[in-house]
Amino acid sequence: MIKFLDLQRLTQKYSAEIKAAAERVIDSGWFLQGKENEEFEAQYANYIGSKFCVGCANGLDALIWIFRAYIENGFMKPGDEVIVPANTYIATILAITENGLKPVLVEPNPDTLEIDDAKIEAALTSKTKAICIVHLYGRCAYTKKIGEICKAKNLKLIEDNAQAHGCEFEGVKTGNLGDAAGHSFYPGKNIGALGDAGAVTTNDEELAKTIRALANYGSSKKYIFKYCGRNSRLDEIQAAILKVKLAHIDEDNAHRQEIAKFYYENIKNPLVRLPERLNDAQNVYHLFPVLCEKRDALQAYLKENEIQTLIHYPVAPHKQECYKQWNSTSLPITEAIHAQELSLPISPVLDLGDAKIVAQTINKFNG
Ligand SMILES: *Cc1c(COP(=O)(O)O)cnc(C)c1O
Repeated sequence: MIKFLDLQRLTQKYSAEIKAAAERVIDSGWFLQGKENEEFEAQYANYIGSKFCVGCANGLDALIWIFRAYIENGFMKPGDEVIVPANTYIATILAITENGLKPVLVEPNPDTLEIDDAKIEAALTSKTKAICIVHLYGRCAYTKKIGEICKAKNLKLIEDNAQAHGCEFEGVKTGNLGDAAGHSFYPGKNIGALGDAGAVTTNDEELAKTIRALANYGSSKKYIFKYCGRNSRLDEIQAAILKVKLAHIDEDNAHRQEIAKFYYENIKNPLVRLPERLNDAQNVYHLFPVLCEKRDALQAYLKENEIQTLIHYPVAPHKQECYKQWNSTSLPITEAIHAQELSLPISPVLDLGDAKIVAQTINKFNG
């Protein structure tokens, strides 16, 4: 069986360093808001190129805190609108609605699968306060046009960088292309903790301070509460493990890129469409999506051939029960992607030989 993502093998690869990191924290007797957080935040900010990094409990919280902090700091208020791609993981949208803001769903470009920058201007209103781009599948969603729209209209550019650690646009890392970025370190992400973890990066000191307080009960001074916050802190043990993962991210991404290169050069089946290829710096291949009109048949066929795949994602956010108010909205490009997308095995521990079997098997699929 060729696994979609062999987390056990991936963890094994760094197990000596991970165990040493965990042991160091266990022996220290200090489990929250200590040296490991401080060091990870400094190292991750340095990696992303941003001035500030604030660790928190998970990627969803990271995004929630960004919008909440803009509300607390007076830049937005509930009822304001945020432009966001319609094809994203639900967390991006939840972070917006959680804060009483209104997501304005914009269709993606069918060739890149990222937000279509040509459709953003038509979606702007007097209530628009931000554009939240999602570097979906590990590929850069930023374009110069998006940057220009934000500047011209005084909008905040927020990045959902949950899937794209290490990705770049013209030498600048995703997570440092806009005003603030949310990062997830869910175990399967390119930098994965052994549990939940997340972070915000920004160059805005006031925003960073507000977020640090919000994620710590709303307090920046012990027993003094400025905001009604929550407990959304990053564990020391996860921060220590994340330092190990961060040290290896570039080699891990390079392996993903090698697998992707192989797929691009060797998958040749007219029934299977690959997204437009970007240069390596702009794609860290968190996932390798392909599109197929007979997606379910392709998935079943690959399963029969001992190849595990996943769908990212089977149901678009606007078709979910939690967003009943948008269920009848028509977003045909998004809906087609959700009906046709299939993610092939890719990871830092997938053997090139297995990628070869995946490509050869796909090439024999005849619908
Ligand atoms: C994983 C993910 C999140 C949420 O991160 P968690 O750490 O799982 O809360 C947000 N946005 C996108 C695009 C993701 O893939």
